[in-house]
Amino acid sequence: MDLNSEIFSASARRAIDWIIHYFEHTDEYPVLSRVKPGEIKSQLPELPPTLSESFDTILDDFEKIIIPGITHWNHPRFFAYFSITGSYPGIIGEFLSSALNVNAMNWKSSPSATELEEVVLEWFRYMVQLPTTFMGIINDTASVSSLCAIAAAREATAFNIRELGLSGRPDLPQLILYVSEETHSSIERAAMVLGIGQNNVRKISTDAVFRMNTDELEQRIRVDIDNGCKPIGVVATIGTTSTTSIDPVAEIASICRKYNLWLHVDAAYGGPVSILPEKRDYFVGWELADSIVINPHKWMFTPIDCSVLFSRRPDMLKSAFSLVPEYLRTAEQDVVKNYMDYGVALGRRFRALKLWMIIRSYGTNKIQKTLREHLNYAEKFKAKVEEHDDFELMAPVPFSTVVFRLNPNHGKHSLSNDELNSVNERLMNKINATGEVFLSHTKLRGNFSIRLAIGNIKTIEADIDLAWDIILKQAKEFCS
Ligand SMILES: *Cc1c(COP(=O)(O)O)cnc(C)c1O
Repeated sequence: MDLNSEIFSASARRAIDWIIHYFEHTDEYPVLSRVKPGEIKSQLPELPPTLSESFDTILDDFEKIIIPGITHWNHPRFFAYFSITGSYPGIIGEFLSSALNVNAMNWKSSPSATELEEVVLEWFRYMVQLPTTFMGIINDTASVSSLCAIAAAREATAFNIRELGLSGRPDLPQLILYVSEETHSSIERAAMVLGIGQNNVRKISTDAVFRMNTDELEQRIRVDIDNGCKPIGVVATIGTTSTTSIDPVAEIASICRKYNLWLHVDAAYGGPVSILPEKRDYFVGWELADSIVINPHKWMFTPIDCSVLFSRRPDMLKSAFSLVPEYLRTAEQDVVKNYMDYGVALGRRFRALKLWMIIRSYGTNKIQKTLREHLNYAEKFKAKVEEHDDFELMAPVPFSTVVFRLNPNHGKHSLSNDELNSVNERLMNKINATGEVFLSHTKLRGNFSIRLAIGNIKTIEADIDLAWDIILKQAKEFCS
């Protein structure tokens, strides 16, 4: 049976009712899915149906089979990785954009899609207080935004790699990219894709609080130049993935200027905090970057996916990517923006719509208020960790992520490092098995450390208190 308007209306209503109920009761689900590998697949037929199935049956299966295999990123006590949420305005934006189903590849293919993206990214640029010289483009993920940025950095070297490629070229020096030990793996992957190669990504060590050591950075650049290599760029991070540390961006920017290197700032998680005037210190120097990535789908209530790449040198992005076949040439191409010229993908979803709806629906005040609440909850959780004899903080807490571990009686039990690691891993697994909270981990200089990341629009202080109670309860057996 085809899904005619009548059936669509009934099915869509059922789906919306389901969504509303889900949003009001997300915390009643186990946050981390409890299914075993293969359990979902075993309930699904191996072959597609030949005959049409009713949408009611399909939605029944969605509830019965699919939902148990969902880990609830919308759960107010999802504290793993970087906590993210969808939101009603974002969902409406997704809904309408899939209804329009436009492909925002160039201006003509849907003028509103292009012009709304320009306007909403101007708003966003203003919100995070970057200078007007920055142009924005929406990509799916930070991984792709950073890939584009590093492609632009490679293009800026004038080796004409776009045309000649990298292979079979004895005239080319080794291209070198600098990151820190704490830089996100997406950068190394970009280097793999772009032919720079993993071995040519220099991982600069970090200081006691996980910030890139700039002396070592400059030293490595010098050594590489002396050895005939060609440094092309540095990636600095504001809010690293393990600990949310903040690299000294201003110092790194001046090194980049001195050696003529592209500076890319990865603020995928931390970026939205620049909306708070009292936290601008964290962002000093980022206006000197050539490119910056911020993910509204991380800490700005936007349903995944939505990543914003800002660049002061959009001409370089264009020069790295623009390739306009005859059938895409348009009369107005020189007076309008064609976003397909600035990245890898030709086809582009109309993601600006949901971002526009979120910013309008909440207003900047509500966004600021929520971020401040999250920062405040993190402060409170941090205080609980610091005040407890059996726990220790593993890194400073500039944002909404607390990294800590159990260390009974502050080490006086003299557990070895391996024992501590195994205790903390077991503790985290026990906590997650309760289904009440979901935490993740990282390893810091060999120490297994538990992360609690706050980013959900529905998280309230009671969720933080409950998380702490559960942690204490599960930790008891290790503390006697
Ligand atoms: C999450 C994150 C990324 C990767 O983001 P995707 O959008 O999933 O590709 C990159 N860098 C940092 C600092 C992050 O926190």
